[in-house]
Amino acid sequence: MTRALHFLRSGRLAWRDREPPRIEDGRDAVVRPFVAGRCDGDTVPIHRPVSRAMQLGLAIGAIDPVVASICGSVPFKGPFGIGHECVAEVVAVGAAVTALHVGQRVVVPWAVSCGSCGHCRNGLTSKCATTIRSTLAAFGFGPACGPWGGMVADEFRVPFADHMLVPVPAGVPPLRVAAASDNLADAWRCVVPPLAAREGGSVLILGGGAKSIGLYAAGLAVAHGAGPVDYVDDDAGRRDIAESFGARAVTRPEGRYDVAVEATSSAPGLRRAIRSLAPGGVCTAVGYYLATGTRVPLMHMYATDTTLRVGVSHARALLPELLDFVHRTGFPAERVTTLTADWDDAPTAYAAKTTKVALCRDPVH
Ligand SMILES: [Zn+2]
Ligand SMILES: [Zn+2]
Repeated sequence: MTRALHFLRSGRLAWRDREPPRIEDGRDAVVRPFVAGRCDGDTVPIHRPVSRAMQLGLAIGAIDPVVASICGSVPFKGPFGIGHECVAEVVAVGAAVTALHVGQRVVVPWAVSCGSCGHCRNGLTSKCATTIRSTLAAFGFGPACGPWGGMVADEFRVPFADHMLVPVPAGVPPLRVAAASDNLADAWRCVVPPLAAREGGSVLILGGGAKSIGLYAAGLAVAHGAGPVDYVDDDAGRRDIAESFGARAVTRPEGRYDVAVEATSSAPGLRRAIRSLAPGGVCTAVGYYLATGTRVPLMHMYATDTTLRVGVSHARALLPELLDFVHRTGFPAERVTTLTADWDDAPTAYAAKTTKVALCRDPVH
Protein backbone atom coordinates (compact mmCIF):
# COMPACT_ATOMS: atom_id res chain seq x y z
CA MET A 1 0.00 0.00 0.00
CA THR A 2 1.01 3.63 -0.40
CA ARG A 3 0.21 6.49 1.91
CA ALA A 4 -1.74 9.53 0.79
CA LEU A 5 -2.74 12.57 2.83
CA HIS A 6 -6.51 12.72 3.16
CA PHE A 7 -8.86 15.53 4.13
CA LEU A 8 -11.28 14.08 6.67
CA ARG A 9 -13.17 17.14 7.88
CA SER A 10 -12.45 20.74 8.83
CA GLY A 11 -9.22 20.89 10.83
CA ARG A 12 -8.58 17.16 10.43
CA LEU A 13 -6.19 15.49 7.98
CA ALA A 14 -4.63 12.01 8.13
CA TRP A 15 -2.50 9.57 6.18
CA ARG A 16 -4.65 6.86 4.60
CA ASP A 17 -3.52 3.82 2.62
CA ARG A 18 -4.43 3.44 -1.01
CA GLU A 19 -3.56 1.04 -3.81
CA PRO A 20 -0.08 1.69 -5.18
CA PRO A 21 -0.27 3.52 -8.52
CA ARG A 22 0.78 1.62 -11.63
CA ILE A 23 1.18 2.34 -15.32
CA GLU A 24 -2.31 1.81 -16.81
CA ASP A 25 -1.66 3.32 -20.24
CA GLY A 26 1.53 3.59 -22.28
CA ARG A 27 1.40 7.37 -21.93
CA ASP A 28 1.35 7.28 -18.10
CA ALA A 29 4.13 8.00 -15.65
CA VAL A 30 4.30 7.29 -11.94
CA VAL A 31 5.92 10.05 -9.92
CA ARG A 32 7.19 10.42 -6.38
CA PRO A 33 6.59 13.95 -5.04
CA PHE A 34 9.30 15.24 -2.71
CA VAL A 35 8.19 18.87 -2.35
CA ALA A 36 4.54 19.82 -2.00
CA GLY A 37 2.92 23.22 -1.54
CA ARG A 38 -0.42 23.90 0.07
CA CYS A 39 -2.72 25.74 -2.32
CA ASP A 40 -4.45 28.78 -0.83
CA GLY A 41 -7.78 27.24 -1.83
CA ASP A 42 -7.16 24.16 0.32
CA THR A 43 -7.38 26.28 3.44
CA VAL A 44 -11.07 26.99 2.72
CA PRO A 45 -12.33 23.60 3.93
CA ILE A 46 -9.39 23.01 6.32
CA HIS A 47 -9.64 26.19 8.35
CA ARG A 48 -13.40 26.62 8.36
CA PRO A 49 -16.25 24.07 8.58
CA VAL A 50 -17.82 25.31 5.35
CA SER A 51 -19.40 22.07 4.17
CA ARG A 52 -22.80 22.44 5.83
CA ALA A 53 -23.17 26.15 4.97
CA MET A 54 -22.27 25.37 1.36
CA GLN A 55 -24.83 22.53 1.21
CA LEU A 56 -27.47 24.96 2.42
CA GLY A 57 -26.31 27.66 0.01
CA LEU A 58 -26.55 25.25 -2.90
CA ALA A 59 -30.00 24.03 -1.77
CA ILE A 60 -31.50 27.52 -1.61
CA GLY A 61 -29.77 28.75 -4.76
CA ALA A 62 -27.50 31.28 -3.04
CA ILE A 63 -24.37 29.44 -4.23
CA ASP A 64 -23.83 28.85 -7.93
CA PRO A 65 -24.66 25.22 -8.85
CA VAL A 66 -21.34 24.85 -10.68
CA VAL A 67 -19.72 24.65 -7.24
CA ALA A 68 -21.35 21.24 -6.71
CA SER A 69 -19.83 19.95 -9.94
CA ILE A 70 -16.37 20.78 -8.58
CA CYS A 71 -16.67 20.07 -4.84
CA GLY A 72 -19.54 17.54 -4.90
CA SER A 73 -23.18 18.04 -3.91
CA VAL A 74 -21.98 17.67 -0.32
CA PRO A 75 -19.00 20.03 -0.73
CA PHE A 76 -15.71 18.90 0.78
CA LYS A 77 -17.07 15.60 2.04
CA GLY A 78 -14.12 13.66 3.40
CA PRO A 79 -12.20 11.53 3.12
CA PHE A 80 -10.50 12.49 -0.11
CA GLY A 81 -6.86 12.79 -1.14
CA ILE A 82 -5.70 16.38 -0.93
CA GLY A 83 -2.87 18.44 -2.43
CA HIS A 84 -2.30 19.76 -5.95
CA GLU A 85 1.07 21.50 -5.91
CA CYS A 86 4.27 19.48 -6.11
CA VAL A 87 7.70 18.87 -7.50
CA ALA A 88 8.24 15.16 -8.10
CA GLU A 89 10.72 12.61 -9.43
CA VAL A 90 9.69 10.32 -12.24
CA VAL A 91 9.85 6.72 -10.96
CA ALA A 92 8.28 4.79 -13.86
CA VAL A 93 7.19 5.57 -17.40
CA GLY A 94 4.88 3.79 -19.85
CA ALA A 95 6.11 2.36 -23.14
CA ALA A 96 4.86 5.34 -25.17
CA VAL A 97 6.58 8.00 -23.03
CA THR A 98 9.53 9.45 -24.92
CA ALA A 99 10.40 12.80 -23.32
CA LEU A 100 10.95 11.71 -19.72
CA HIS A 101 13.32 9.45 -17.87
CA VAL A 102 13.33 7.87 -14.44
CA GLY A 103 14.83 10.24 -11.89
CA GLN A 104 13.84 13.37 -13.78
CA ARG A 105 12.52 16.24 -11.63
CA VAL A 106 9.25 17.67 -12.80
CA VAL A 107 6.44 20.05 -11.88
CA VAL A 108 3.00 18.44 -12.00
CA PRO A 109 0.24 20.94 -12.94
CA TRP A 110 -2.87 20.95 -10.75
CA ALA A 111 -5.26 20.23 -13.62
CA VAL A 112 -5.11 17.05 -15.68
CA SER A 113 -4.87 17.70 -19.42
CA CYS A 114 -4.12 15.77 -22.61
CA GLY A 115 -2.13 18.36 -24.57
CA SER A 116 -3.76 17.58 -27.90
CA CYS A 117 -7.46 18.49 -27.79
CA GLY A 118 -8.65 21.83 -29.13
CA HIS A 119 -8.78 23.49 -25.71
CA CYS A 120 -5.29 22.30 -24.80
CA ARG A 121 -3.89 23.48 -28.13
CA ASN A 122 -5.42 26.91 -27.44
CA GLY A 123 -3.72 27.08 -24.04
CA LEU A 124 -6.89 26.27 -22.07
CA THR A 125 -5.24 23.26 -20.47
CA SER A 126 -7.38 23.40 -17.34
CA LYS A 127 -10.47 22.98 -19.54
CA CYS A 128 -9.14 19.89 -21.38
CA ALA A 129 -11.89 18.24 -23.41
CA THR A 130 -10.32 14.78 -23.04
CA THR A 131 -9.94 14.56 -19.27
CA ILE A 132 -12.89 16.57 -17.93
CA ARG A 133 -16.07 14.68 -17.08
CA SER A 134 -18.00 17.60 -15.56
CA THR A 135 -16.30 20.95 -14.83
CA LEU A 136 -12.66 20.25 -13.93
CA ALA A 137 -10.21 17.35 -13.98
CA ALA A 138 -7.70 17.84 -11.20
CA PHE A 139 -5.61 16.34 -8.44
CA GLY A 140 -6.68 16.80 -4.85
CA PHE A 141 -10.21 18.15 -5.22
CA GLY A 142 -12.13 14.95 -4.50
CA PRO A 143 -14.01 12.53 -6.77
CA ALA A 144 -16.08 15.16 -8.63
CA CYS A 145 -12.86 16.18 -10.40
CA GLY A 146 -11.88 12.65 -11.40
CA PRO A 147 -10.04 9.64 -10.00
CA TRP A 148 -6.64 11.31 -9.65
CA GLY A 149 -6.29 11.64 -5.88
CA GLY A 150 -4.10 14.17 -4.11
CA MET A 151 -0.44 14.97 -4.66
CA VAL A 152 0.64 14.59 -1.04
CA ALA A 153 1.16 10.88 -1.53
CA ASP A 154 4.05 8.41 -1.59
CA GLU A 155 3.55 8.10 -5.35
CA PHE A 156 0.82 8.82 -7.87
CA ARG A 157 -0.02 8.24 -11.53
CA VAL A 158 0.04 11.00 -14.13
CA PRO A 159 -1.63 10.45 -17.54
CA PHE A 160 -0.35 12.03 -20.78
CA ALA A 161 2.98 12.31 -19.01
CA ASP A 162 5.04 13.66 -21.93
CA HIS A 163 2.69 16.63 -22.04
CA MET A 164 1.76 16.96 -18.36
CA LEU A 165 5.14 16.80 -16.65
CA VAL A 166 7.31 19.90 -17.06
CA PRO A 167 11.00 19.42 -16.18
CA VAL A 168 12.46 21.64 -13.48
CA PRO A 169 15.43 23.47 -15.06
CA ALA A 170 18.81 22.39 -13.69
CA GLY A 171 19.90 24.50 -10.74
CA VAL A 172 16.43 25.68 -9.71
CA PRO A 173 15.92 24.78 -6.02
CA PRO A 174 12.79 22.59 -5.80
CA LEU A 175 11.40 24.56 -2.82
CA ARG A 176 11.50 27.69 -5.01
CA VAL A 177 8.94 26.19 -7.37
CA ALA A 178 6.84 24.35 -4.78
CA ALA A 179 3.80 26.35 -5.93
CA ALA A 180 4.49 26.37 -9.67
CA SER A 181 1.78 23.72 -10.13
CA ASP A 182 -0.87 26.23 -9.17
CA ASN A 183 -0.51 29.36 -7.01
CA LEU A 184 2.70 30.71 -8.58
CA ALA A 185 1.31 30.14 -12.08
CA ASP A 186 -1.96 31.75 -10.97
CA ALA A 187 -0.06 34.86 -9.84
CA TRP A 188 1.88 34.90 -13.12
CA ARG A 189 -1.23 35.18 -15.27
CA CYS A 190 -2.51 38.04 -13.06
CA VAL A 191 0.43 40.36 -13.65
CA VAL A 192 2.83 39.24 -16.37
CA PRO A 193 0.57 39.36 -19.47
CA PRO A 194 -1.21 42.57 -18.34
CA LEU A 195 2.15 44.27 -17.69
CA ALA A 196 3.48 43.13 -21.06
CA ALA A 197 0.65 45.18 -22.58
CA ARG A 198 1.11 48.10 -20.11
CA GLU A 199 4.86 48.52 -19.77
CA GLY A 200 5.84 50.02 -16.41
CA GLY A 201 2.20 50.03 -15.34
CA SER A 202 1.17 50.48 -11.73
CA VAL A 203 -0.16 47.47 -9.84
CA LEU A 204 -2.54 47.07 -6.90
CA ILE A 205 -2.70 43.81 -4.97
CA LEU A 206 -5.52 43.23 -2.49
CA GLY A 207 -4.13 40.31 -0.50
CA GLY A 208 -4.97 38.15 2.46
CA GLY A 209 -7.59 35.74 1.10
CA ALA A 210 -5.65 33.84 -1.53
CA LYS A 211 -2.67 34.50 0.69
CA SER A 212 0.28 33.19 -1.31
CA ILE A 213 -1.06 34.19 -4.73
CA GLY A 214 -1.20 37.85 -3.69
CA LEU A 215 2.42 37.73 -2.54
CA TYR A 216 3.71 35.89 -5.62
CA ALA A 217 1.87 38.46 -7.73
CA ALA A 218 3.53 41.33 -5.84
CA GLY A 219 6.98 39.81 -6.38
CA LEU A 220 6.39 38.96 -10.03
CA ALA A 221 5.00 42.43 -10.76
CA VAL A 222 8.12 44.12 -9.34
CA ALA A 223 10.35 41.67 -11.20
CA HIS A 224 8.57 42.53 -14.45
CA GLY A 225 9.24 46.24 -14.19
CA ALA A 226 5.92 47.44 -12.84
CA GLY A 227 5.60 51.04 -11.68
CA PRO A 228 4.61 51.22 -8.05
CA VAL A 229 3.29 47.90 -6.77
CA ASP A 230 0.96 48.59 -3.85
CA TYR A 231 0.08 45.71 -1.56
CA VAL A 232 -2.88 45.86 0.87
CA ASP A 233 -3.22 43.24 3.62
CA ASP A 234 -4.14 43.20 7.33
CA ASP A 235 -1.32 40.80 8.13
CA ALA A 236 2.02 42.37 9.10
CA GLY A 237 4.02 39.25 8.20
CA ARG A 238 2.68 39.23 4.66
CA ARG A 239 3.22 42.97 4.31
CA ASP A 240 6.88 42.36 5.23
CA ILE A 241 7.20 39.66 2.57
CA ALA A 242 5.62 41.93 -0.04
CA GLU A 243 8.03 44.74 0.88
CA SER A 244 10.98 42.34 0.69
CA PHE A 245 10.04 41.86 -2.98
CA GLY A 246 10.08 45.63 -3.51
CA ALA A 247 6.34 46.26 -3.25
CA ARG A 248 4.92 49.07 -1.12
CA ALA A 249 2.69 48.05 1.78
CA VAL A 250 -0.22 50.48 1.94
CA THR A 251 -3.37 50.51 4.05
CA ARG A 252 -5.69 51.35 1.13
CA PRO A 253 -5.45 51.83 -2.62
CA GLU A 254 -3.76 55.13 -3.43
CA GLY A 255 -4.83 56.54 -6.76
CA ARG A 256 -5.65 54.54 -9.88
CA TYR A 257 -3.85 51.45 -11.15
CA ASP A 258 -3.23 49.88 -14.53
CA VAL A 259 -3.36 46.35 -13.13
CA ALA A 260 -5.22 45.04 -10.08
CA VAL A 261 -5.14 41.61 -8.45
CA GLU A 262 -8.12 40.71 -6.27
CA ALA A 263 -6.82 38.16 -3.77
CA THR A 264 -9.07 38.87 -0.78
CA SER A 265 -11.48 36.28 -2.19
CA SER A 266 -14.44 38.48 -1.34
CA ALA A 267 -17.07 40.40 -3.27
CA PRO A 268 -16.26 43.71 -1.53
CA GLY A 269 -12.61 43.19 -2.49
CA LEU A 270 -13.66 42.56 -6.06
CA ARG A 271 -15.61 45.81 -6.22
CA ARG A 272 -12.80 47.72 -4.54
CA ALA A 273 -10.21 46.38 -6.99
CA ILE A 274 -12.39 47.25 -9.99
CA ARG A 275 -13.05 50.78 -8.71
CA SER A 276 -9.30 51.29 -8.21
CA LEU A 277 -8.47 50.83 -11.90
CA ALA A 278 -7.22 53.52 -14.25
CA PRO A 279 -8.79 53.81 -17.72
CA GLY A 280 -8.01 50.69 -19.73
CA GLY A 281 -6.95 48.80 -16.61
CA VAL A 282 -7.41 45.11 -15.97
CA CYS A 283 -8.37 43.36 -12.76
CA THR A 284 -7.78 39.64 -12.35
CA ALA A 285 -9.77 38.06 -9.54
CA VAL A 286 -8.28 34.85 -8.16
CA GLY A 287 -10.60 34.16 -5.23
CA TYR A 288 -13.73 32.07 -4.99
CA TYR A 289 -16.89 34.13 -5.52
CA LEU A 290 -19.45 31.45 -4.80
CA ALA A 291 -22.65 33.46 -4.89
CA THR A 292 -25.16 33.02 -7.68
CA GLY A 293 -25.26 36.79 -8.21
CA THR A 294 -22.04 38.54 -7.17
CA ARG A 295 -22.53 42.27 -7.70
CA VAL A 296 -20.02 43.81 -10.10
CA PRO A 297 -20.03 47.57 -10.94
CA LEU A 298 -20.51 47.17 -14.70
CA MET A 299 -21.46 50.79 -15.40
CA HIS A 300 -18.30 51.96 -13.66
CA MET A 301 -16.33 49.49 -15.75
CA TYR A 302 -18.00 50.75 -18.92
CA ALA A 303 -17.28 54.38 -18.11
CA THR A 304 -13.65 53.63 -17.22
CA ASP A 305 -13.09 51.08 -20.01
CA THR A 306 -11.80 48.40 -17.69
CA THR A 307 -11.56 44.63 -17.96
CA LEU A 308 -12.33 42.01 -15.33
CA ARG A 309 -10.62 38.64 -15.74
CA VAL A 310 -11.91 35.65 -13.81
CA GLY A 311 -11.30 31.99 -14.49
CA VAL A 312 -9.21 29.00 -13.61
CA SER A 313 -5.51 29.36 -14.33
CA HIS A 314 -4.01 27.27 -17.12
CA ALA A 315 -0.88 26.34 -15.26
CA ARG A 316 0.39 23.76 -17.73
CA ALA A 317 0.37 26.25 -20.58
CA LEU A 318 2.27 28.83 -18.51
CA LEU A 319 4.83 26.55 -16.88
CA PRO A 320 7.61 26.55 -19.51
CA GLU A 321 7.76 30.37 -19.53
CA LEU A 322 7.39 30.60 -15.74
CA LEU A 323 10.10 28.03 -14.98
CA ASP A 324 12.46 29.60 -17.51
CA PHE A 325 11.92 32.98 -15.83
CA VAL A 326 12.71 31.55 -12.38
CA HIS A 327 15.79 29.83 -13.83
CA ARG A 328 17.10 33.00 -15.51
CA THR A 329 16.38 35.46 -12.72
CA GLY A 330 16.53 33.42 -9.52
CA PHE A 331 13.16 34.85 -8.52
CA PRO A 332 12.98 33.92 -4.78
CA ALA A 333 9.44 32.55 -4.67
CA GLU A 334 10.35 30.51 -1.57
CA ARG A 335 10.19 33.77 0.43
CA VAL A 336 6.41 33.35 0.48
CA THR A 337 6.65 29.99 2.27
CA THR A 338 6.04 30.62 5.98
CA LEU A 339 6.23 26.99 7.12
CA THR A 340 8.52 24.30 5.69
CA ALA A 341 7.70 20.96 7.30
CA ASP A 342 8.86 17.39 7.15
CA TRP A 343 6.80 15.22 4.80
CA ASP A 344 5.83 12.82 7.59
CA ASP A 345 4.31 15.70 9.55
CA ALA A 346 1.86 16.53 6.76
CA PRO A 347 -1.34 15.83 8.76
CA THR A 348 -0.57 18.64 11.21
CA ALA A 349 1.58 20.90 9.03
CA TYR A 350 -0.94 21.00 6.16
CA ALA A 351 -3.56 22.33 8.60
CA ALA A 352 -1.32 25.05 10.03
CA LYS A 353 -2.80 28.55 10.20
CA THR A 354 -0.05 30.22 8.24
CA THR A 355 0.35 31.82 4.83
CA LYS A 356 2.07 29.08 2.85
CA VAL A 357 3.07 25.56 3.78
CA ALA A 358 5.67 23.50 1.93
CA LEU A 359 6.30 19.84 2.75
CA CYS A 360 9.57 18.22 1.81
CA ARG A 361 11.51 14.98 1.99
CA ASP A 362 14.70 13.74 0.37
CA PRO A 363 14.53 12.74 -3.29
CA VAL A 364 15.65 9.17 -3.95
CA HIS A 365 17.50 9.80 -7.22
ZN1 LIG B 1 -5.38 25.37 -6.03
ZN1 LIG C 1 -6.84 18.35 -23.72
